[in-house]
Amino acid sequence: MSATEQVTFANVVGGEIVDATTGDHEDVLNPATEEVIARVPKGGAQDTRRAIGAAEQAAPAWGRTTPAQRAQALLKLADLLEANAAELGDLEARNAGKPRAAAAEEIPLCADHLRFFAGAARVLEGKAAGEYMEGYTSMVRREPIGVVGQITPWNYPLAMAIWKIGPALAAGNAIVLKPSELTPLTTIRLAELALEALPPGVLNVVTGHGDPVGTTLVTDPRIRMVSLTGSVGTGKAIARAAADTLARVHLELGGKAPVVVLDDADVEQVAANLRVSSFFNAGQDCTAACRVIATEAVYDQLLEALVPAAASLKIGDPFGPDQDEIELGPVISQRQRERVLGFIERAADGGAEILTGGTAHGDRGFFVTPTVIANPAQDSEIVQREVFGPVVSVQRATGADQALAWANDCDYGLAASVWTRDVNLVMRATRELDFGCVWVNDHIPFLSEMPHGGFGQSGYGKDLSAYSLEEYTRIKHVMINLGE
Ligand code: NAD
Repeated sequence: MSATEQVTFANVVGGEIVDATTGDHEDVLNPATEEVIARVPKGGAQDTRRAIGAAEQAAPAWGRTTPAQRAQALLKLADLLEANAAELGDLEARNAGKPRAAAAEEIPLCADHLRFFAGAARVLEGKAAGEYMEGYTSMVRREPIGVVGQITPWNYPLAMAIWKIGPALAAGNAIVLKPSELTPLTTIRLAELALEALPPGVLNVVTGHGDPVGTTLVTDPRIRMVSLTGSVGTGKAIARAAADTLARVHLELGGKAPVVVLDDADVEQVAANLRVSSFFNAGQDCTAACRVIATEAVYDQLLEALVPAAASLKIGDPFGPDQDEIELGPVISQRQRERVLGFIERAADGGAEILTGGTAHGDRGFFVTPTVIANPAQDSEIVQREVFGPVVSVQRATGADQALAWANDCDYGLAASVWTRDVNLVMRATRELDFGCVWVNDHIPFLSEMPHGGFGQSGYGKDLSAYSLEEYTRIKHVMINLGE
């Protein structure tokens, strides 16, 4: 697809590629150029209900398939992703503004997640039967929940869809999935590819806005579980709405990951890591290393290494002339760029120092230069609120006690890292840090086998791993009178 060619993408409902019943369409932009790259249906409540109906029809038969059959389907879908990796990677890069190489790297990871869930489906079990009351045998059946609604954000559109559909399908649920209105393209392609791997109606995709598509999904009583990856505000709105239907809710929300750098840390290693983990995906990552807390012993040295490292990032259009060198693309939208620049401006007004970056970049596209902010106050907005852009703050703590206290003094609880070679401090920090994931001497890696999910305002529930598979099942106690 050339940069200017516009393609119309449609929804996938009940095994058919369909337009919105509203007849409305919406432009999808490339955030690096601001050009329209596609038009997609702008779904309404009616479209959402139609998709839920299709999922409801497909759910019983899909729920009765054997784990082996579901594993086969997931393995096939993984193969299809790999077979179409080049197209999917470029589509993601163009729609989300990612460097092409970074987008390409996401596709094998997505295939691996699906293969993990294919295997996990076959070892998921209820508790073994036994006699817990005289004269009775009890057994536990682990069943799919039924029809689940899944809502994804714009930062990793395909990967977040895979994180959600993998465990839901493996457990035998039927799905209605709503991608972000800003980045629906790879999710629609995923659903089209899935037509070759899954029975009709098992995976339905409806494009459109939070209201009405998301809100209809969340309030329809046929939906028995809602899973969101998105912002804290949306998570709360969904939890409130789901209170009426008592649908199960799974929320992967924002983050504000601290990077605790202690006296004996290898500062060059930390700076090299931050060059990636603070700015990867233009900082639009819920686990981005955005809140560095360094002890006095290493603070100056860390800034000396970090500032040139950040400033050296090559920023630009992922499909431009020097595309092979691009490391930092745009943020997703003009609104997001203004939001990010607003955070930086208010941080400076509050007395923090902007050591590099802090500006828009170029004459088109939603670029923000890589930004390092020194010495903000612990209670300042830049330390407490999620920016979701290429911005890292660095605070100076008196020592490990203050660094760990500051790390925990934040509403979010998704991920954190601690950098030290002192085993006692490692043990203390990993116990005390109030986050769903704690890295030691690293920041950012994740894998299919291990859970991802936060505490506090970062939500509840786990993605990836066998834990996420369990969330998409319900437990039934069956008690048999032995008639003895
Ligand atoms: P968002 O909350 O604005 O939107 C997320 C999705 O929810 C979109 O599809 C949107 O259309 C939909 N939505 C909006 N309002 C809704 C409503 N009332 N009911 C139902 N659906 C609704 O988030 P975003 O701006 O797209 O994504 C960025 C956010 O996602 C950041 O806060 C980021 O931290 C978070 N995120 C979290 C994780 C994680 O694993 N914890 C991963 C990636 C992104």
